[in-house]
Amino acid sequence: MRKVANKSEVVVVGAGIAGVMTALSVRRKGHSVTLIDRWEPGHPRASSSDYSRLIRSIHGSDRLYTEWVREARLRWMELQEEVKQTLLVECGALVIATEGDSGWEDSTFSTFDELGVPYFRLGSQELVSRFPQFDFRNVSYGIFEPESGMLMAHRAVVECARLFEREGGRVIRGRPQTDESERLYLNGKPLEADLTIVAAGPWIGEMYRRSIGPISKIVRQNIIYTSCPDADGTYEHQNMPCWIDHGYEAYGTPSYEGSGVKAAIAWTEAIIDLDNDERVVDEATFNRTRNYIRNRLPGLIGQKAVDQKACQIAMTPDTHFIIDFHPQYDNVLIAGGCSGHLFKHGPVFGEFAAGVGLREFGTADRFKINTRSKLVDTESPSGR
Ligand SMILES: Cc1cc2nc3c(=O)[nH]c(=O)nc-3n(C[C@H](O)[C@H](O)[C@H](O)COP(=O)(O)OP(=O)(O)OC[C@H]3O[C@@H](n4cnc5c(N)ncnc54)[C@H](O)[C@@H]3O)c2cc1C
Repeated sequence: MRKVANKSEVVVVGAGIAGVMTALSVRRKGHSVTLIDRWEPGHPRASSSDYSRLIRSIHGSDRLYTEWVREARLRWMELQEEVKQTLLVECGALVIATEGDSGWEDSTFSTFDELGVPYFRLGSQELVSRFPQFDFRNVSYGIFEPESGMLMAHRAVVECARLFEREGGRVIRGRPQTDESERLYLNGKPLEADLTIVAAGPWIGEMYRRSIGPISKIVRQNIIYTSCPDADGTYEHQNMPCWIDHGYEAYGTPSYEGSGVKAAIAWTEAIIDLDNDERVVDEATFNRTRNYIRNRLPGLIGQKAVDQKACQIAMTPDTHFIIDFHPQYDNVLIAGGCSGHLFKHGPVFGEFAAGVGLREFGTADRFKINTRSKLVDTESPSGR
């Protein structure tokens, strides 16, 4: 096993949230770090793009991610102090449990109680009076997390990349690629570094077709922003939480900084060509999301779509992240496996990936590249 010296040359490939946070952590341990991306940090093709991402503690019965997100929340607060920008908006998160399909939500209570996560369990009457924006038809109950909310995603990537540079890290444009044996090259030459951390998000499966391709399914995600009613603050973040609506495979955020209400449906069959597709929401998903808004947020009927984002997630079979050394190259760490829930964990994910890469500790079994299989929804951190 290759040792990593006290002052090593480390390259991080990919400046989405996984790469930026990992690069920052490695840099803060005193190493020389270069962060390479094909495009500018914050670019709209990355999975970390868009104004916001939800931060919520619910991960069903999964203790590790619940602990991670509680820790990450504190780290986000520290980071926003460091960059002097709002990164975390604690508008709360409402988890809507569907009648007859609430296994994931049911399995959360004991996890929250054991770990001391604050929450309110709300019955139908309380839901209606507390959150008048929603139609709670076919809903069994709600879990309201007051200390959750949204992260300003684009701002977080851009500001944390700048923070990394201010602390002596280097950010450059480039496109490392792999050959048939999955060896890394940059500009036609082997990429030589003491440690290379590949955090190329959904592109990891293409770069490592043999090792990662089989455990990385790319799924298109389309988001629509809908205008708020005229002269009415009901749908703004002071009055409305983020929400997760598993019954419809949907989620969303209130309007913040004039964004409009964001809603998305996770449609796992939708595909995307990462490099060649236009990043425009297709008509089928648009109509599907509109229909969802009509049913769940009837006060927005007649309001207009004011913005849209077409993006993608990389799903692993068990929805666990990937943080493991390449099977052939023991100085190449793969760090990603988004599965639709990596952003919120960013600072903790970065620290963990940095520690594994620098051989301070081993990775967790769940993050290893081999032996992945689908979980039932009560075991799955995402309930998917
Ligand atoms: C619509 C949507 C909603 C989501 N909602 C949430 C949410 O509410 N909460 C949450 O926690 N998570 C959410 N997620 C998931 C979360 O956003 C992702 O898990 C996370 O952003 C993944 O970050 P990443 O750094 O791994 O990938 P990316 O952000 O895609 O970054 C990868 C980077 O690598 C670069 N790259 C690729 N190949 C190369 C190469 N060969 N050389 C150099 N650079 C390369 C790319 O340009 C890119 O910048 C959502 C995702 C989507 C798409």
